[in-house]
Amino acid sequence: MNAVFTDRVTHLEPEGAYAALARAQQLEAQGREILHLEIGQPDFPTPPHIAQAGIDAIQEGHTRYTPPAGINELRALIAEDARRRRGVEFSPQMVIVASGSRPGLFFPTLALVQPGDEVIYPDPGFPTYQAMIRVAGGVPVPIQLKEEKQFSFNLDEFDSKISDKTKLIVLNSPSNPTGGVIPIEDLEYIATKAKEHNAWVLTDEIYSRLVYDGMSAPSIVSIDGMMEHAVLVDGFSKTFSMTGWRLGYMIAPLALAERLELLLTHSTGCPASFTQYAAMEAISGSQESVEQMLAEYMRRRDFIVEGLNSIPGIVCQKPQGAFYVFPNIKSFGLSSEEIARRLLDEAGVAVLAGTDFGLGGSGYLRLCYATSMDVIERALEKMQKFFKYL
Ligand code: PMP
Repeated sequence: MNAVFTDRVTHLEPEGAYAALARAQQLEAQGREILHLEIGQPDFPTPPHIAQAGIDAIQEGHTRYTPPAGINELRALIAEDARRRRGVEFSPQMVIVASGSRPGLFFPTLALVQPGDEVIYPDPGFPTYQAMIRVAGGVPVPIQLKEEKQFSFNLDEFDSKISDKTKLIVLNSPSNPTGGVIPIEDLEYIATKAKEHNAWVLTDEIYSRLVYDGMSAPSIVSIDGMMEHAVLVDGFSKTFSMTGWRLGYMIAPLALAERLELLLTHSTGCPASFTQYAAMEAISGSQESVEQMLAEYMRRRDFIVEGLNSIPGIVCQKPQGAFYVFPNIKSFGLSSEEIARRLLDEAGVAVLAGTDFGLGGSGYLRLCYATSMDVIERALEKMQKFFKYL
């Protein structure tokens, strides 16, 4: 039978990171040693006190459905935590807990974007943005992130692309894949324009606690009145090294939060129960392990940035956040895809092409440094040799 799928799904493609991992694993199956810097997830185990809270919850019988938007106590803890971090009041009813932060990207887009509406999003950017915009029938409007501006938004391009057709603006700071942080002046400009054109803002702040050098990443929702037409997305995967627990959340104005809750009711039912108990411990328990992981990421960032910049032909900015570096490899005159492929085949180093995150990523590679110093050190040595003979 000839399967005929809807336009909603025919454009979907696998994430570059999973495709690269699969290729790397094929080589490993042939006996090659591969150094992994492609997948964006912390290498640390979930802190033991958080894991224990999940185990206790199972043993205490918290293995049944919870309310679709999450346990009320967790929603209240998240509202309070978000208030402390962003300086804005949120009611627990505005908090919708879901299975990871991805539903926090997908469902608000489904709830806000009508077919034909334009959606502005960062390029290079997390691949889910383009996917969710197209599933909703929206028109993707990519805005290039500029290396010269530490990979913040290109405001001139933003200015020329925003119009009354713009329904939603997606922001991601600190960013995957660049590690860039959008400064408050840029956020203020974006906020003013969003209000002028009556556009919503979806702010993906999943890396909000992974910011270095004693800095913090400003949030657009801290700007007066913005929370009336914004959705804030955050989660537990990155901060607490909980990628497999699948827990994240969105915070939205009440009327939208109600729609989002209904979408979740009819799709996922509710997030896993015991992971919500682990999340309560993550928020209200000791934050020491978060501090330790952050200090270790910063040490690795400094090391990898210095190592990459010591390779003739590579220029690498020092990112302020997340756990990615986005080196410029334009001087070698080859495409990002070819360099990424050859790095894997010839040097055994798995990285992603900048173009896995959109055309704006051409001329760059993405390396994730949430891996051991030993792996980073050996990968840099192999890259030194590889680029010398390229
Ligand atoms: N947003 C960004 C920018 C990400 O990089 C990721 C994970 N790679 C996510 C969202 C999804 O995270 P979660 O595990 O919470 O679904």
